[in-house]
Amino acid sequence: NKQVILRDYVVSGIPKESDFELRTSKIRLNVPEGSKSVLVKNLYLSCDPYMRGRMRNATDSYIASFTPGSPIYGYGVSRVVDSGHPNFKKGDFVWGSTGWEEYSLIIEPETLFKIEHTDVPLSYYTGILGMPGMTAYAGFYEVGSPKEGEYVFVSAASGAVGQLVGQFAKLKNCYVVGTAGSKEKVDLLKNKFGFDEAFNYKEEHDLDKALKRCLPDGIDIYFENVGGKMLDAVLLNMRLHGRIPVCGMISQYNLEEPEGARNLFCLITKRLRMEGFLVVDYYSMYPKYLDMVLPLIREGKITYVEDIAEGLENAPKALIGLFSGRNIGKQVVLVARE
Ligand code: NDP
Repeated sequence: NKQVILRDYVVSGIPKESDFELRTSKIRLNVPEGSKSVLVKNLYLSCDPYMRGRMRNATDSYIASFTPGSPIYGYGVSRVVDSGHPNFKKGDFVWGSTGWEEYSLIIEPETLFKIEHTDVPLSYYTGILGMPGMTAYAGFYEVGSPKEGEYVFVSAASGAVGQLVGQFAKLKNCYVVGTAGSKEKVDLLKNKFGFDEAFNYKEEHDLDKALKRCLPDGIDIYFENVGGKMLDAVLLNMRLHGRIPVCGMISQYNLEEPEGARNLFCLITKRLRMEGFLVVDYYSMYPKYLDMVLPLIREGKITYVEDIAEGLENAPKALIGLFSGRNIGKQVVLVARE
């Protein structure tokens, strides 16, 4: 059983490939007698920014740290090989938390979602039909409370979550602007995802000016994915009673000391609502979300771009790439085809 092991905690800075090691160990390909666990073969693994936090030795985090010397884990799409659990049988496809390895024994199969619709790519269950999809849905509709015609701004807009937020906002007839870190991504935003305007934040000396150029009337909803300087510039450009669903702050994840926001006084003067959220609190809405998004995918009304790295041995590089923007679209690792 090939596995990706975290060598040691990574305190600060972007993780390196040498922080990981590929190891092969033995695994029994059936579940222990009398156990309710499920043995799965992992097909696709999801690379997600929150995994950076798990590489730290943090006792105050909302999520447990990885264990140095052991395989890391995250979301993935898998096929059931053997099951001691009444809800799962051999051959079922599932998505949920699994190991970064070829086969995993899932001790708490109740956390897995059974995949009922296989007419769409299975890898989508790491993205649009999985955790990032639910994040975009809950963050935009539930936390953002959008109204028709509003001005929406999205950061990390070409990524797993951002590309969906932009498209949901267009379906709501909003005016949507996105930012991303390369020309290729900006083109994708405008030409593939239908954003009204987009800019490359790495080429703007003055983010405030860039926002005023693209959104001269201001921003009603800022879908926050990056934090730091971008948040500060956005605060100055929010409209009265604007909303900021705080999804993530990836610009801060590799810093030892987070940067402070300077323009928070705008929350008062503009009567803003800034609200953090975690997708796990919204999973009860998953069936409702599928009812909405599956027809949109099937009718071609929504599109999803993935960046698929092939082979478990390339998984650490793919994960690390999130923090320099190497991924174009949702970063996935293909471990096995079926
Ligand atoms: P992406 O697919 O968007 O990948 C991350 C992207 O972030 C990179 O491609 C890069 O794009 C951008 N980025 C990296 N470093 C920086 C930086 N220093 N400054 C600005 N942008 C940077 O990731 P996801 O869509 O999966 O996640 C987006 C955000 O949502 C993250 O902050 C994540 O933590 C958060 N999240 C929160 C959840 C929740 O429950 N609250 C659940 C899931 C995700 P670029 O080229 O544009 O720089």
